[in-house]
Order: sequence, then C-alpha cells, then structure tokens
Amino acid sequence: MATHTTRMLIIGSGPAGLTAAIYGARAGLNPIVVQGLQPGGQLTITTDVENYPGFREAVQGPWLVQEMQAQAEHVGTRMMWDTIVDIDLSGPPFRAIGDSGDVYEGDTLVICTGAQAKWLGTKGEQEFSGKGVSACATCDGFFYRGKKVVVIGGGNTAVEEALYLTNHSQDVTLIHRRDSLRAEKILQDRLFAHPNIKVLWNKEVAEFIGDGAIGGAGLTGLALVDTVTGEASVEPAQGAFVAIGHAPATELFKGKLELDESGYIVVQPGTPKTAIPGVFAAGDVMDHTYRQAVTAAGTGCMAALDAERFVGALDFAAQAAANVAGADA
Ligand code: FAD
Ligand code: NAP
Repeated sequence: MATHTTRMLIIGSGPAGLTAAIYGARAGLNPIVVQGLQPGGQLTITTDVENYPGFREAVQGPWLVQEMQAQAEHVGTRMMWDTIVDIDLSGPPFRAIGDSGDVYEGDTLVICTGAQAKWLGTKGEQEFSGKGVSACATCDGFFYRGKKVVVIGGGNTAVEEALYLTNHSQDVTLIHRRDSLRAEKILQDRLFAHPNIKVLWNKEVAEFIGDGAIGGAGLTGLALVDTVTGEASVEPAQGAFVAIGHAPATELFKGKLELDESGYIVVQPGTPKTAIPGVFAAGDVMDHTYRQAVTAAGTGCMAALDAERFVGALDFAAQAAANVAGADA
C-alpha cells in the first residue's frame, strides 16, 4: 500500500480529466490522474468522431483520447491504474482510496468520473452498437443522413434527439413504451408539429435486427411489442438512438457533495466549483445538457485553472502564517 501525494488529484481519464491534467501539469501542479475502469472514458467505445475541432477528417475516438493522454504525460502527468472506492473531502488535502489499497492525496481535487448512457439490455443492442445503434444523436446522427431513424424514450432527451435528427433525416420515428411523454410541453409541441416525425405509442423494443457481420447491412429494423395488446410488429430503421437517460458516476460522492435529482454533481453556475473549496467537477459528471468531448475538455480546462488559483491561495495563506510565526518567535 503506497500513499501518492500531489498538488492536483484528478479522478477520471476521459477528455475532462486529461485536459485538466494538461493544464495542471503545465502550471507545475504535478497532477495524478486515477484512470478508473474505463481508461480514456467514453470515447474509447466509439469509432468516428467528426465534431472534435482540429481534425478535418473523422478521427477514431480511442486514438483521440490516446493522444490526449500522451500530451498529458508529455507535460508531466502521472497516470495511475486504479479505481477510487472511497473518498474523504474534509481536506485539503483530499484523500481518495484506490481499489488497490493505495491512497491518493491532493491539495485540490478535480472530479471527472463522467456519465454512462443507460441501455435497454435488449437482444441485438450490443451487437449493433456503432453499426446502427447509438446513444448520442449529436455524435452519430450525421452518419445516418438520408436514412430512416428511430429514437427510443419519452423524456426531454428523446424528444430533443428526435428533433435534432430531422436535420439529417426526413423519416424519424419516436418509440415510447407508454401513451404519453414525460418531456416538457414545449418540446412535445415541437415534436408533434414536425412533419418528419411520427410517434409509435405503447411499444417496447424486443430485438434490434439486421446483419452485424463485417460488410453486412448493419441494423435493418426493430422488433416491437405493443405494451397494451401484446401485438408484435417490425419497424424498419437503419439507425436507432436509445435515449432513456444517463447515469452519472457519482456513487462515491453521495452524502458528500450536493447532487441534483438525476445524480449529477451540482456546481456553481458557469463554473466547475462545488460547494467545497478546492473540489471541482468537470465534464459529463456535472453536465446533463451538452455531454460532448469538447465541452468535457472545456470544463476540464476551467477546473484546472480554478484549481491552480486555489493552490496559489493555499500557498499564500501558508506563507503568511509562516511569516507571522517567524515574527512571533
Ligand atoms: P468520460 O469520458 O465518461 O470518462 C469518465 C472517466 O472516469 C473514465 O476514465 C472512467 O474510468 C473514470 N472513472 C469513473 N469512476 C471512477 C472511479 N471511481 N475512479 C477512477 N476513475 C473513475 N462526444 C463528442 O463530442 N463527439 C462524438 O462523436 C462522441 N461520440 C460518442 C460516442 C459514444 C458511443 C459515446 C458513449 C459518447 C460519445 N461522445 C461524443 C460523448 C463523449 O464521449 C463524452 O461527452 C465525453 O467522453 C465525456 O468526457 P468525461 O471526461 O466527462 O467523461
Ligand atoms: P428521463 O427524463 O429519465 O426519461 C427517460 C425516458 O426513457 C422516459 O420516458 C422513460 O419512460 C424511458 N425509459 C426509461 N427506461 C426505459 C426502458 N427500459 N425501456 C423503454 N423506455 C425507457 O431521461 P432524460 O430524457 O435523459 O432526461 C434526464 C434529465 O435531464 C431530466 O431531468 C430532463 O428534464 C433533463 N434534460 C433536460 C433537457 C432540457 O432542459 N432541454 C434536455 C435533456 C434532458 P417512462 O416515461 O415510461 O418512464
């Protein structure tokens, strides 16, 4: 069991954590990044990324985060293969306990543990992931331009995804398991008024169907079951967007930091600051609205800049206290 100390402890190695690390390292904070169970974060499970600025052609998600990590290490970040299982926020220093038994202490803490899309768990969903099934229309909608697409869900996200997809497709179907949506009325009004969107009520997805082989057709449709009558049907589609909510990775922070009703970390508006001075949150773990690699990187940068100021203030206070003690002696 070892204790690792740093001026800046970062939990999570997606775009938010790695960007915070790049800024923190360049500010001389000698950051540690604890990577967790998904080193590189969500981008490691996607293929083409076409909307991260700086690349004219699509780049591969895993490559993009590898480059971010290489850049972070190049400027002095220490990457740790560990997962935090307990945390003490009574610092500074803030103490995190790893699954390995190692202890990580940081004068400042940046939480970048991300969020994961919820999946239906239905047959074919994994098989066609990235080959027709997605959980992010902003990320993948463009790849289905001119094709028939469906969105599954009945909340704000599902309705926004359906409306967004009309930028690319003239044939969008929202599939919902009940006969009313939980999305806000204004979004519902826009949805129902849109000529290119139809809604299938009371339908659950029984299976995603198609040809998942390399070079195969990919997704071709969804087998549905009516939740009222039990009747089976098939809805043809080449793209299916599962929009049934996201789960932020905040289990560790329950009772220690304020979380909103969906479990996201609450920050002061327009900043990555939590209610605890010196503890910051960046990326998808504090953002249920945008959830993009570039916004995660942006808030990671903001967190590092604020962390640097916090550490500077700590040093100033320590120096002032030492001066007073010296004068008293
Ligand atoms: P994440 O990337 O979720 O990383 C979270 C990190 O926290 C992981 O490294 C994880 O291991 C770590 N972690 C969690 N808990 C712990 C713990 N207890 N201890 C230590 N570490 C922990 N965005 C785009 O901009 N363009 C796209 O084309 C795009 N495509 C996408 C395709 C897919 C399939 C998915 C799922 C997402 C896509 N996104 C895209 C969204 C983008 O990936 C996310 O917005 C972004 O990765 C969020 O970054 P993050 O750093 O906040 O968190
Ligand atoms: P949500 O509000 O929890 O809605 C999830 C939807 O998915 C519900 O309609 C639910 O059906 C359905 N669903 C859940 N599990 C399912 C399953 N296994 N099979 C089929 N359907 C399933 O999630 P969200 O839409 O992602 O929104 C999350 C939070 O973010 C909300 O607070 C929302 O207001 C907020 N948000 C706000 C905005 C905005 O303000 N513009 C945009 C996006 C999100 P039921 O209705 O039957 O439960």
